[in-house]
Amino acid sequence: MPMLNDNTRRKLNAYRLDRNGQIAPGTDRGALHTAACWSWALTGGYLASDSPLSAISIYAAIMGNAFVPDPRNPDAVLATDYGAVINDVDDDFPGCVAEFATLRANFQACRDADIALRAAEVVFEQFKVDRQGDDSEGVCAAIRAARIPVIEARDASWMVARPEKVQFMQALMSICARRNGLVPAGPGDASVYTLHMRSSRWYGWDHWGIGVRTLPAGQLTFIQTVPNHPLCHSSNVMWDEHMIQASIGIAGLLQNHVDAINLIPPAPVRLAKCGQNQCNATHGWLFSLKNHWHRCTTCGTVWCPTHGSSLAGKTWNSQTRTCNVCQGRTELLS
Ligand SMILES: [Zn+2]
Ligand SMILES: [Zn+2]
Repeated sequence: MPMLNDNTRRKLNAYRLDRNGQIAPGTDRGALHTAACWSWALTGGYLASDSPLSAISIYAAIMGNAFVPDPRNPDAVLATDYGAVINDVDDDFPGCVAEFATLRANFQACRDADIALRAAEVVFEQFKVDRQGDDSEGVCAAIRAARIPVIEARDASWMVARPEKVQFMQALMSICARRNGLVPAGPGDASVYTLHMRSSRWYGWDHWGIGVRTLPAGQLTFIQTVPNHPLCHSSNVMWDEHMIQASIGIAGLLQNHVDAINLIPPAPVRLAKCGQNQCNATHGWLFSLKNHWHRCTTCGTVWCPTHGSSLAGKTWNSQTRTCNVCQGRTELLS
């Protein structure tokens, strides 16, 4: 499987991480600008929603999407009830026997956890039906207020059977990954390469992204996007951070991922952190004529003036040093 070379993982490590991250070059337009979060995560590029390989198509094929009848009006349907059944489509997903077993083992516990939520939704939908046609301010406010118990029931139900829901999400992520040529490497985020999902619903998702553990210390950095937004690297959190996260390892990436990540430039000093462990020096936005930062021209590791000038390899005619990570040569940045 395609992987990042060690110097690329060192280059990523030189960036300070923050919530939003940094824009990956060339992604303020084009395929990766248009791509959905799951499209980047699963393919490294743009995939249409109606492709059979899309997360949307895969979920739709596996999860039965039934309608819930309104108990007070059997002729009417209230809402689409995703996740009513796991379809017998195992043969369409080669290599996913373990994942389908996990889906079926956790399915009922996940559904049972939503019983209170569904009851609240039924009450809310009926409340709206009863007030149909009345757009007065008082009714609109009442409908907004009636929504609150539904939100509270959703939040409460999400905490019930949370391990089962996370396993369910991980199994679906794993099926989507295999279907797109990735090789899942088990649950959790310990692998060098990882897939991550945030969701408010066990049978769906709100956000996908990938993680890379950088060198030398194995720091986890997230690379993620949302539709019509640039691809962003060097995030310290998967977005939608108020939602539950499910993560799985992957044995490598796809070439599209590697190509996009290779385009990320070595960290500019204003965005960099010093390669010396525990050093919190930051360069700031202004140029400095006196204090030179060092950056390795091979692996992109950056050092503050103090730690750069303590590297070995100074020669009589140059202030540059030898990188103690890859043995490349540093350049001076002001
Ligand atoms: Zn280096
Ligand atoms: Zn330093």
